[in-house]
Amino acid sequence: MVDTCATFVKMTSDQTLDVIVVGSCMTDLVSQAPRLPKAGETIHGHKFFIGFGGKGANQCVQAARLGADSAMVCMVGKDFFGDNYIQNFKDGGVCTDFVKQTSAAATGTASITLNDAGENAIVIVAGANLLLDSEDLKDVQPTLNRAKVLVCQLEINPQTSLTALRMAQQCGVKTIFNPAPAIPLMDQEFYTVSDVFCCNESEAELLTGRPVSSVEEARDAGQNLKARGCGAVIVTLGPKGCVVLRGEGSKHIPTAAVSAMDTTGAGDSFIGALAFYMARYPTMPLEEMATRANHVAAVSVQTLGAQTSYPFKKDLPAALF
Ligand code: ATP
Repeated sequence: MVDTCATFVKMTSDQTLDVIVVGSCMTDLVSQAPRLPKAGETIHGHKFFIGFGGKGANQCVQAARLGADSAMVCMVGKDFFGDNYIQNFKDGGVCTDFVKQTSAAATGTASITLNDAGENAIVIVAGANLLLDSEDLKDVQPTLNRAKVLVCQLEINPQTSLTALRMAQQCGVKTIFNPAPAIPLMDQEFYTVSDVFCCNESEAELLTGRPVSSVEEARDAGQNLKARGCGAVIVTLGPKGCVVLRGEGSKHIPTAAVSAMDTTGAGDSFIGALAFYMARYPTMPLEEMATRANHVAAVSVQTLGAQTSYPFKKDLPAALF
């Protein structure tokens, strides 16, 4: 039995949101050590920090930093990490009306050990994220009716994501679906409820069964995915930018060469930015939105961390707005 309370900053009943994200929140518990411990071994690390992560929350925070009026729909635990995460959203100007808390599971965590060679070992416990169900979306419907863009991923119960996308489609709200982490036997309806289906190379590979490591291969995989019924497809390609497929055409959108320090959460930065542009510039061609989202994500890879690296509007060139 999920025990919920959504008692945070209340929106006025007529507020229109740019972006609603239905997805995950994970608290990152990061230990840096000279090497990764072996089974049964205890070693000394040299640094520890707590970060805010989870694909849904990352995307929502990036959209908000660019100036989108954004809300997060998620489940955290009734615990220190959950309270802390809610404060993080409030500090970032994200509406928390639909952030629920449960005592039935802990806030999602990612326990990460990083060694000096940059390798990592990660244990993710999704916890409360998996308790967000379709019933929890009922409260969101009136606000969703007036929103501009809905974003979903697969770090929560896939049925909840699918219900949210269906609800958005039925009320004419644009949808972005990020099939991450990819699941091989994904419900085919995810394609038809996606106005923009945005994945990275490995997700495109897993979903199509084709290799995706070049622009041409991304184009082929994107065409295959688009034929399953999505409005448009974007395949992100790390430092190579992305490929956009819409209508009968496809276009490679390269990104600027930058010196990357940490690419963690780059994909989420890209999607958060894309959601911002779709909400605020609905008539802008998707290729132009992807060009600008490339720029935002390229800024994020030049600083350590996920949300800590996401740029604010004030840090970016005026030409992006
Ligand atoms: P992650 O899992 O680390 O969040 P991802 O694999 O989902 O990322 P990527 O395709 O690696 O996503 O990157 C998303 C976008 O971020 C790219 O389309 C690009 O715009 C930008 N990007 C990523 N890596 C780099 C880089 N090294 N230089 C410039 N831009 C980058």
